[in-house]
Amino acid sequence: MRQSLVVGNWKMNGTRASSILLSQGIVAGLGSNSAQIAVCVPYVFLASVGEIIKDSRLALGVQNVADKPAGAFTGEISATMLNEFGCKYALVGHSERRSYYGDTNESVAARFSQAQAENIVPILCIGETLEQREQNQTFDVVNEQIDAVINLTGIQAFNSAVIAYEPVWAIGTGKTASDEQAQEVHQHIRQYIAAKDQVIADKIQILYGGSAKPDNAKGLFAMPDIDGGLIGGASLDAESFLKIYHSI
Ligand code: PEP
Repeated sequence: MRQSLVVGNWKMNGTRASSILLSQGIVAGLGSNSAQIAVCVPYVFLASVGEIIKDSRLALGVQNVADKPAGAFTGEISATMLNEFGCKYALVGHSERRSYYGDTNESVAARFSQAQAENIVPILCIGETLEQREQNQTFDVVNEQIDAVINLTGIQAFNSAVIAYEPVWAIGTGKTASDEQAQEVHQHIRQYIAAKDQVIADKIQILYGGSAKPDNAKGLFAMPDIDGGLIGGASLDAESFLKIYHSI
């Protein structure tokens, strides 16, 4: 049985003070839910949020990681540095990184590999644009995004990784994929992995992301191949993030 996981992506929001309050609010509402939960915070809040959540089940994550281990790469943050802060998860290949900051399938694969080298679990974000969906390219796009990582790391690397299926047209737009639309792609992703390794396919957590909210999370999470969610906007409010978490 796969464990469920809900991850908040705070993006470039908040202040140090608001991040502390938000993480305190989430910790206070975790209750007895045994599903896994994490927040991917801006780098500069890692220490403050890490201090708040250190004795709780709320895990610490970030939104990106450098594709190189160290060196003259001005402005980058390495996996080794993140490890020092107790960072457990790193998003790699979020569509905003791919579309605004030039991330390619190859650089995303390198980030994935760097995270794993420091025992940080990469959350590989994949998904199609609206245009690609309309041209029936969804499966091809996610296959290519997964293959780029497998080509670099091998399929065994997915033993300690998470996949987040995030249709680009649903991120931050208020348009959620229907439960069936999301399930169809999640099932495809699991089958695609299964063709390479059945054991990994059965155990890998595949999260849905894209305008998930308290009122639509339950339906999405009830789908057999959806193991939780990557939550953007709704993770900025402790109450709505917790409602989503408790719909697992
Ligand atoms: C995201 O940024 O990963 C995301 C899913 O955002 P939102 O929930 O706001 O669509």
